[in-house]
Amino acid sequence: MTIYRATVSRVRPLTDTMVRITLTGGDLPGFVSTGVGDEYVRLFFPHGPDRRELSLPVATDTGWETPEGRPTAPMRTYTIRAARPESAEIDIDFVLHDHGVAGGWAAAARPGDPLGLNDPTGLYARPEGVTRQILVSDLTGLPALARILENTPDSLTTRAIVEVPDERSVQPLPAHPRTRVTWAHGGNGRTPSRLADLVTAALPPGTDLTDTYVWVAGETTALRSVRKHLRRTLELPTDRFKVVGYWAPGGDSWSERYEALPEGVKAELAALWENPEGDLEDVTITYEERLSGLGL
Ligand SMILES: Cc1cc2nc3c(=O)[nH]c(=O)nc-3n(C[C@H](O)[C@H](O)[C@H](O)COP(=O)(O)OP(=O)(O)OC[C@H]3O[C@@H](n4cnc5c(N)ncnc54)[C@H](O)[C@@H]3O)c2cc1C
Repeated sequence: MTIYRATVSRVRPLTDTMVRITLTGGDLPGFVSTGVGDEYVRLFFPHGPDRRELSLPVATDTGWETPEGRPTAPMRTYTIRAARPESAEIDIDFVLHDHGVAGGWAAAARPGDPLGLNDPTGLYARPEGVTRQILVSDLTGLPALARILENTPDSLTTRAIVEVPDERSVQPLPAHPRTRVTWAHGGNGRTPSRLADLVTAALPPGTDLTDTYVWVAGETTALRSVRKHLRRTLELPTDRFKVVGYWAPGGDSWSERYEALPEGVKAELAALWENPEGDLEDVTITYEERLSGLGL
């Protein structure tokens, strides 16, 4: 694990709700992209009002830790929208929303601001032989969706569904033959996300998903029923879909509410992972059903 220090070199508004921030300099010449379309990193932000004061953690064998006596840098997860090793630059597209460390930082970002990040991890994993992909996201997943499209061979058919707050958040996507894109309006913290309904409407029970890979990213609680639909109703094999929760309404208080659960309930939840019944997706569905039942 490496922790990199980088500096903002460019800030470019993409739409009313998204800004592209280019990072360069510092340790970025050593950054190695996986090339996977949805690769993400942990970003480390300034801990206080001074945007230039960044207290980076140090890498350890298992992750990272803040040196004793130093302030802890708030950490958030973001997609590498583009990596240009020849100029040691990366682009990150930030959703501008009204609250949060990262959203607020991005809205005020300017050249010279420092930021930390770690090594990237990609999740999108389309198996060999797949001829069609279905990509679904809200605004937070749009950078990954766009990069996945960029990486897609011309032979593949793509159906993309993107939930954006309104038409002013629509962005041109990389031109690609055999691609059909639907823009739905809503969600994204303004109204409840319709991603689950959009997926069910596009892929009703009985849909033939032979040779199809499905990738879905967006509001976490809305995606619980998407995972269930893909795995239990459509019986997709676990290697032919990826559902990743990117953010949650009230996400800043989620950990506190989880920690406030009775110890017995937390132990029961932890035990689901320790003694899994079924594959990882089945355990995740059971876990998420339990969380929903607990109002989490
Ligand atoms: C693998 C992965 C990749 C991601 N890639 C990107 C990316 O490329 N671009 C991107 O913008 N986001 C991305 N996200 C989502 C991002 O990590 C979250 O939106 C994060 O919560 C933003 O942090 P914050 O400090 O702004 O808000 P937080 O402090 O985490 O949350 C504060 C409040 O803001 C709300 N909130 C958080 N995000 C949003 C939002 N998008 N819209 C409306 N309300 C929100 C929360 O519900 C909470 O109530 C990704 C997440 C994951 C897991």
